[in-house]
Amino acid sequence: MNNDMGYTALISNMQHFSTGDGPGIRSTIFFQGCNLRCPWCHNPEAIPRRPVLLFYKQRCRNCKLCVKACPSGAHGDKEGQHIFVRSRCRLSGKCVLACPSDALRLSGTVKTLKEVLDYLYEDIDFYEASGGGVTLSGGEPMLQADFCAAVAKNCKEKGISVIIDTAGNVDYSEFEKVIPFVDSFYYDLKGASEEDYRGKIGGSLKLTVMNMERLVKDGAEVTARIPIISGYNDSPAYCINLCEILKKAGVKNVHLLPFHRLGSSKYDSLGIYYPYRDTHPPDKEKMDSLLEVFKNDFGTKIEW
Ligand code: SF4
Ligand code: SF4
Repeated sequence: MNNDMGYTALISNMQHFSTGDGPGIRSTIFFQGCNLRCPWCHNPEAIPRRPVLLFYKQRCRNCKLCVKACPSGAHGDKEGQHIFVRSRCRLSGKCVLACPSDALRLSGTVKTLKEVLDYLYEDIDFYEASGGGVTLSGGEPMLQADFCAAVAKNCKEKGISVIIDTAGNVDYSEFEKVIPFVDSFYYDLKGASEEDYRGKIGGSLKLTVMNMERLVKDGAEVTARIPIISGYNDSPAYCINLCEILKKAGVKNVHLLPFHRLGSSKYDSLGIYYPYRDTHPPDKEKMDSLLEVFKNDFGTKIEW
């Protein structure tokens, strides 16, 4: 692990007062880059392992300040209207600084360890008062495990609790780097068959489960999180299979996360098609019925 405060990581976003990333008041660091491709992902901007520019067309006031600022001619004017030509974008970020209306955002900026820690320490009083802390999420934070370990070690020294939110598709040696400093893992289980993992999300169920089992055996606190996606895994029969996998892995707590469409505008801002655009979120009745499948064997919760 590198403890040098100038040590860097590629970060998608940093957020104070985040909800849904663990107990209490938390700050969340979203790492840039993921090795899975979940088609329902609500952070698509954090998937590429390189920076990307988001352009929120509906916020654009047509002021053209970005046209002047962009060194590569990616922003232009067509019949008085602002246009953005993504293929010309060289990710200088100069347009983001020039834009007065928050219509542009760069996901994937290089941050030093000091910058990240300074950001996290700003809310230390809130963590203490609320039983909260810090969550390392993404993208896949474990692809930058050395940096995660450095953040978590520094937080631990300050008495700040740290959760890592992972899909677990990395070599176990990456987990060994962070285990000593992390309080808890939020560990996604996204399918019950190798076919679904390989075909739908581009990962490995075998690796996911193997790492989950090893974490539990090594004494880590692991909460399994299952996204419930309408038309994919929202049947009791599918959930029984997920339940069996988690029982075998020795996990004690399961959270169900109903699919939502809040990430939809991000797909538009990236100029990519969102295949779940018309998919309806599961309703309360559906979620309650699926929770029943897990209730006898685990501590359970629905994360609305
Ligand atoms: S600077 Fe922002 S608001 Fe102005 S034209 Fe460019 S994107 Fe639109
Ligand atoms: S693992 Fe998470 S960040 Fe990666 S593609 Fe799936 S939902 Fe998105």
